[in-house]
Amino acid sequence: MLDKTPSTKVTEFLDKFGSALEAGDIEAAVNCFQADCYWRDLVTFTWNLKTMEGQDQIREMLKATLAKTKPTGWKIAEGEEAAEDGGVTTAWIEFETEIARGFGMIRLKDGLIWTLLTTMAEIKGHEEKAGFTRPLGAKHGHGRDRKTWREEREDEMAELGHSRQPYTLIIGGGQGGIALAARLRQLDVPTIVVERNERAGDSWRKRYKSLCLHDPVWYDHLPYIDFPKNWPVFAPKDKIGDWLEMYTKVMELNYWSATTAKKASYDEAAKEWTVVVERDGKEITLKPKQLVLATGMSGKANWPTIKGQDVFKGEQQHSSTHPGPDKYRGKKVVVIGSNNSAHDICAALWEGGADVTMVQRSSTHIVRSDTLMDIGLSALYSEQAVESGMTTRKADLIFASLPYRILHEFQIPLYDQMRERDKDFYAALEKAGFMLDWGEDNSGLFMKYLRRGSGYYIDVGACDLVIDGSIKLKSGVDVQELTKDGVLLKDGTLLPADLVIYATGYGSMNGWAADLISREVADKVGKCWGLGSDTIKDPGPWEGEQRNMWKPTQQEALWFHGGNLHQSRHYSQYLALQLKARMEGIDTPVYGLQEVHHRG
Ligand SMILES: Cc1cc2nc3c(=O)[nH]c(=O)nc-3n(C[C@H](O)[C@H](O)[C@H](O)COP(=O)(O)OP(=O)(O)OC[C@H]3O[C@@H](n4cnc5c(N)ncnc54)[C@H](O)[C@@H]3O)c2cc1C
Repeated sequence: MLDKTPSTKVTEFLDKFGSALEAGDIEAAVNCFQADCYWRDLVTFTWNLKTMEGQDQIREMLKATLAKTKPTGWKIAEGEEAAEDGGVTTAWIEFETEIARGFGMIRLKDGLIWTLLTTMAEIKGHEEKAGFTRPLGAKHGHGRDRKTWREEREDEMAELGHSRQPYTLIIGGGQGGIALAARLRQLDVPTIVVERNERAGDSWRKRYKSLCLHDPVWYDHLPYIDFPKNWPVFAPKDKIGDWLEMYTKVMELNYWSATTAKKASYDEAAKEWTVVVERDGKEITLKPKQLVLATGMSGKANWPTIKGQDVFKGEQQHSSTHPGPDKYRGKKVVVIGSNNSAHDICAALWEGGADVTMVQRSSTHIVRSDTLMDIGLSALYSEQAVESGMTTRKADLIFASLPYRILHEFQIPLYDQMRERDKDFYAALEKAGFMLDWGEDNSGLFMKYLRRGSGYYIDVGACDLVIDGSIKLKSGVDVQELTKDGVLLKDGTLLPADLVIYATGYGSMNGWAADLISREVADKVGKCWGLGSDTIKDPGPWEGEQRNMWKPTQQEALWFHGGNLHQSRHYSQYLALQLKARMEGIDTPVYGLQEVHHRG
């Protein structure tokens, strides 16, 4: 007898799984999963971003959601074939729910589901107008006093926020707010973005002079418009700023620059926010139904309190406000911190002729950029990946299909390879006194990013300067106090300084809610970011998704959006669909709203 092809096996399996779901036979559906199993759902069943781990959690979720979701039509996605590798059969899948079309990925082991990803692709009847349904643009035919595109745009800009209220207000017009607004525009959700900077892109432009993206171009595309083929691998910050400004314009966003949100409050009865913004010196009150804080996870500077800060005669800056080295040639600079910003800033200061010392209190994970690109990213985000047919959408979904609970298991071997490949480099760094780590479970950079958003440097050259002593290093020691003209360390060393830079990172995004809404609401929604991995700066209990990001929070109609360019691109899709569904009055019962265990 001929062996069945992987596609035949998956098709037969999906028929069985789909029939169980259609029949409402939860036990039969649960029995399609192996004992060690994961179902990550992005909005289709749960109206939430939620990973169910093990059969019991899957059973509970189905009990709560299946009757309403009414999933049908499970099949291998159009034009795709299943593949088998190392005992795992993998396939892209499509399905429908009562109100949406879904897309996902299934992995079978021994004929049962090991991992399942289900994502909402579009809401039926509210599809984006693209491809065959793209707008005509020109208005063929004729009619008196017809308005042009430009006139209609001008009318919209004059009305929205004045005589007509936006459904969604996004506070913060960095890449996060911009990507989300672009998606909402395609879904016809009236939206305003308010941004306190003068120009879109300024949140990048205003960072230190030497900054280039640490992630490569294939990872950084915005929704709808990819970077062109000649775009540099690591874009300089001002170039990204210009791209965002262009994007904001061509995507027809209602983007209010030079506008600061001052305060916001929610009327539980009217189900409406009142948000006071200041634009051109005038206060305007907006009344959106949904409020998104896209104010940046790297926006709320951690400014440490250190004895003597009022005594120190030199300058003090946080890394986010450090302008770059130009003013500091020949000056003595002490940089507190040893992660990405600290390294970038120290290297630029050294290049600019400053005498710079880095103070490292605790260990840092370092990975060389080339090595990270080759070993960590190339399978999904690289020119080779593009050549082999990998699209950004597929890469994002493959990444999303690996459950957070076991993601570190996929990462550890990669970082083992990196450590081996660059062993001489690491030995030299340690010889220079630099304290290294690989994450608590040796799972490296991505896990540190997802868990705590800090604790690493992607080396693009500064490490050589640490190794050869050009950047002076004081490691394993904390700051005691600032004196009149320097930084006194706890081991008694006095570092003379004209400038002290705190490269001490950023606070949780719910701090923005405290500033704009109230401490009470900030505490109610709790800490943003992290998985609950019970590792440093990511306390348990296990949450299994990034806390509060892109999904419903404990405060009705309040959302958080942000993260790196990849996350902004990918998760803006699910946040936009959640907002669109609410605007259309579609019932969106949230399963498993996250509990709050930490205030920030
Ligand atoms: C040094 C550094 C390097 C980074 N490198 C990379 C990288 O290589 N690749 C990558 O993907 N990510 C990188 N990141 C992380 C992340 O992508 C960036 O921080 C990015 O700017 C986040 O975009 P955002 O839109 O979420 O937030 P931001 O860009 O911080 O935008 C938030 C905006 O909100 C505005 N705002 C805040 N409060 C108000 C208010 N009350 N009213 C109106 N507007 C307000 C701010 O002015 C700001 O423009 C880096 C971050 C830093 C700090």
